[in-house]
Amino acid sequence: MNSKRRQEFRRKLLDWFRRCQREMPWRRTRDAYCIWLSEIMLQQTRVAAAIPYYERFLEKFPNVQALAGAREEEVLRLWAGLGYYSRARNLQRAAREIVERHGGEFPRELAAALALPGIGNYTAAAILSIAHGAPHAVLDGNVARVIARLEAIRGDLREPKRWRGLQTSADRLLEISKAGDWNQAMMELGATVCTPRAPDCANCPVGGFCRARELGLAEKVPEKRRKRAAEKVHLAVAVLLDPRGKTILIPPTPSKKASGKKAERGAKKNPGLSALFSGMGHFPAVAVRKNARAELRRFLRTSGVAELPSGANWIALPALRHAVTHREITITAFVVRVEKLPRVRSGRVVGLNKMQTLAVSGLTRKIARAALGR
Ligand code: SF4
Repeated sequence: MNSKRRQEFRRKLLDWFRRCQREMPWRRTRDAYCIWLSEIMLQQTRVAAAIPYYERFLEKFPNVQALAGAREEEVLRLWAGLGYYSRARNLQRAAREIVERHGGEFPRELAAALALPGIGNYTAAAILSIAHGAPHAVLDGNVARVIARLEAIRGDLREPKRWRGLQTSADRLLEISKAGDWNQAMMELGATVCTPRAPDCANCPVGGFCRARELGLAEKVPEKRRKRAAEKVHLAVAVLLDPRGKTILIPPTPSKKASGKKAERGAKKNPGLSALFSGMGHFPAVAVRKNARAELRRFLRTSGVAELPSGANWIALPALRHAVTHREITITAFVVRVEKLPRVRSGRVVGLNKMQTLAVSGLTRKIARAALGR
């Protein structure tokens, strides 16, 4: 595209964005804290699902100081249901750095923004351009797809050299004087018109500039990425339940005091378990091979959670399925009725029916729902 065509392209896209952009609460502000929060929430979550979380979060933590001073438990509780809790933890760690090192203002320099936990190239460019009009072009999946189609680029877009080329194109297209609107317009086009499947080329505001459309390739670009085969994991889980309806959650990693061979043994038996439960407290669980009940019972004994009598009341729940990145998990959960819950170091005793409001992973909530519905 020569410079005259680029000007025309920018004018058409910005004009369309002004007329057709969707209403979103974070589009009514230029406050860097609000925009940062929305960008982090939107990383793995659809717009409609993120809006109520965004509003509740801002009500409780209206500024970076409030977030920095909050208890982590409270932050995670408000995040509960959004998943990927590392986002919330990084958000709070970054808030504390902003208060301690940047006088409570989200940094305006790209390098300083990138040094904060949880802030990568895309997020930094989005926040700085939208809040302060800084001339940084964003490149996320939506923008990459739009550019790949405009330029009819074939091959895997995430391949590093190709991704760098897409960033160069994004930089060249950027309307520097309206960087925030420009970035949002490109993302909006990718999210609503130039969608992954069935792009709406007939109603595209920049269809006259699109090589893929001209060549009849719109639906073939970008090429599908080859998927890694999912790792299959079989988990056995114990929902210990006392007569008051209370259960126990164990900490996500071996407690600091439980060092040495016992902790190592636990880690070997439960590879990556902490990640499956988003690094949050969870029901006692172990990866098993054949006999879920026997292996779980042995795990409970050897890890020091509980020595359950052979006559203990075990109720097997129907198998559950759960998928996380590159993993397919089958869960065999047992409700185990006990007179008294065991005392577990750093364990938490909670009401089983309160699980949906606690800061726990989606997998833990799914197991709790199944246990309540048995
Ligand atoms: Fe995407 Fe079609 Fe527009 Fe090209 S013409 S940018 S493929 S929606």
